[in-house]
Amino acid sequence: MSSVTAVSLLPAEFHVVIDREACLQCGRCVHQCGWNVYSWDRALERPVPNHSRCVACHRCVTFCPAGAITVKKNELAFKHSENMPPELLKAVWKQAETGGVLLTGMGNDRAYLRIFDHLLLDACQVTNPSIDPLREPMEMRTFLGRKPDSLEAVITPGNRQPGALQLDAQLRLETPILFGGMSYGSVSLNVHRALAWAAQELGTFMNTGEGGLHPELEPYGDHIIVQCASGRFGVDVNYLRAGAAVEIKIGQ
Ligand code: SF4
Ligand code: SF4
Repeated sequence: MSSVTAVSLLPAEFHVVIDREACLQCGRCVHQCGWNVYSWDRALERPVPNHSRCVACHRCVTFCPAGAITVKKNELAFKHSENMPPELLKAVWKQAETGGVLLTGMGNDRAYLRIFDHLLLDACQVTNPSIDPLREPMEMRTFLGRKPDSLEAVITPGNRQPGALQLDAQLRLETPILFGGMSYGSVSLNVHRALAWAAQELGTFMNTGEGGLHPELEPYGDHIIVQCASGRFGVDVNYLRAGAAVEIKIGQ
């Protein structure tokens, strides 16, 4: 019975170059590479790299006692195009070859803007240019929480005021910015302290992330969103009651 081996048509993104003169033929690179890049050529007693498997983690470079390994980017792996950049092409090829969904760790590697300097608040409902800031106060206060899809108002001839709207509990933010989850453990207690103080000072909220809440910060609970993630680190009934809201994290 014959077997069929799938061959990837993806060009190698990196090239592993071994200086044969310097190589001590110790085989350490073969054992250290977690991506099975190297095989051992028994006849020639030396490592042979399969470039297409390399992810450029540089572990072999670090462990090679002779400093004989260099990992280089294969500049010609994909022709550059502004419309179809190499990382997009690679993702499309990989999905086409595997039929799977690409998963990556270690956060977002795209050049998305992520600092406050790029935050634009477009006050489109005021005159441009603003005539009189005192006459046109800016309302930054934001309420988070479930709102009804529609309102029903019963107005009778004798009573033209609709009844007060009953809303579920809302979070009130004095500014439309809150601190995203950074877990206690991935950041120190000092960082959580600073976030809690700042959230209280600015009238907004900090999110605990998935590492629980230090008891010292419970007095700031009115400005804290407690996160409940799949790991449930530090999650118990007291924790869930300690914040103003609970965020249930399903994935990241
Ligand atoms: S770890 Fe370095 S010296 Fe050892 S076999 Fe690999 S390339 Fe050669
Ligand atoms: S750089 Fe990393 S993935 Fe590439 S060969 Fe070395 S250990 Fe393996």
